[in-house]
Amino acid sequence: MSFSNIYYKDSDLYVEECSLAEIAKDMGTPLYVYSAQTIRANFRAYSQALQNQPHLVAYSVKAASNLSILNLIREEGGGADIVSGGELSRAQAAGISPQKIVFSGVGKTTQEMAQALKAGILMFNVESVPELTVLATVAGDLGLVAKVAFRVNPDIDPKTHPYIATGFKETKFGIPISEAFDLYQKAAADPRLSVIGLDCHIGSQLTSVEPMKATAERLNLLLDKLSAGGITLKYLDIGGGLGINYHGETPPSPVEWVATMASLLAKRKELTLVLEPGRSIVGPAGLLLTRVLYDKVTPYKRFFIVDGAMNDLIRPSLYDSYHEILPVLDRQRPLSLVSVVGPVCESGDFLAKDRQMPLAEPGELLATLGAGAYGFSMSSNYNSRPRPAEVLVDGKSFKTIRTRETLADLLKGETL
Ligand SMILES: *Cc1c(COP(=O)(O)O)cnc(C)c1O
Repeated sequence: MSFSNIYYKDSDLYVEECSLAEIAKDMGTPLYVYSAQTIRANFRAYSQALQNQPHLVAYSVKAASNLSILNLIREEGGGADIVSGGELSRAQAAGISPQKIVFSGVGKTTQEMAQALKAGILMFNVESVPELTVLATVAGDLGLVAKVAFRVNPDIDPKTHPYIATGFKETKFGIPISEAFDLYQKAAADPRLSVIGLDCHIGSQLTSVEPMKATAERLNLLLDKLSAGGITLKYLDIGGGLGINYHGETPPSPVEWVATMASLLAKRKELTLVLEPGRSIVGPAGLLLTRVLYDKVTPYKRFFIVDGAMNDLIRPSLYDSYHEILPVLDRQRPLSLVSVVGPVCESGDFLAKDRQMPLAEPGELLATLGAGAYGFSMSSNYNSRPRPAEVLVDGKSFKTIRTRETLADLLKGETL
């Protein structure tokens, strides 16, 4: 199960061998808490599934980009999938080898291209013809060669939330797969470019292998056509996107996920397989710990007003996503229909809506699960709220991996 390192013991909720009540006493709330063991286990599920194949697991930095999390990934032998110069700096600061870094994204700036070229990253996942033109110019000016994969758009409906579906033809992502062959030929003839890979990422929170299977078939046809045309590649990057269990979903395991690629890989032993998982590694490993401020009952609704809000965890507001919420103190109590909301001045500010939950008293702690991915990394200072601290639990001990922002932090860089 995905939340395996989160459990009740002695009527208290634990992460690994640390009590959340104790952690909150030390660190305050709202607070992000991650399990190092869960992150390691989820990473290893990929490397083990790929053990018979040359591979690179390039963790998607945007899912959770704290340096200590990136350091865990580095220790496990992982690389990084980045989408900005900022993420490149983070990956480098964590000591991830540039040779394990791939750069995705539709809007790379010339500065970011130069930064990545000088760093010597493994490859750019190029998403458009104009981007290719600019990349070739930047590389030429620097006297460097840009290693390139094309991110193709296979026109597959990944059957996920529209905001995180990227592989159908109307999105801004990738190059229409029908146009890819011509582009490979064009790029192969350019001395400022070295064409080494094929890339694809069809969406996030995928809960079935079917879209991946359909994608594999289309990639296969393109690879055949490319080798017939004299273009042999070294890397096949199939992106990330494997879903997790937020609320009864039953996503495939990394083994099943990789197996959908099997037919494709069987005849292409020369290819190094690159994966870019984010959510499936850190999502189940993290939770947002909040404290109940008020139990507000109106003639129409009941609200638990907590000290965490949409600025700390925007997924419920942005995607209408469901996160399980557990009281930290485990005791018998009646259920009631409640919405868990924050202090932010938006009706869209909620962590849970109209849910049967155990009644909680002001001062009690609530844990919002499955918040490790796209939680802290999407947080903001909206309503001038300092962002939460982050804590990493490892066995019996925990450490602060990001301090709570202060009021002074909020004013940094501003002038009167
Ligand atoms: C966001 C993203 C990923 C990671 O997706 P997950 O669903 O978190 O695994 C991988 N590749 C690219 C290009 C992305 O934009």
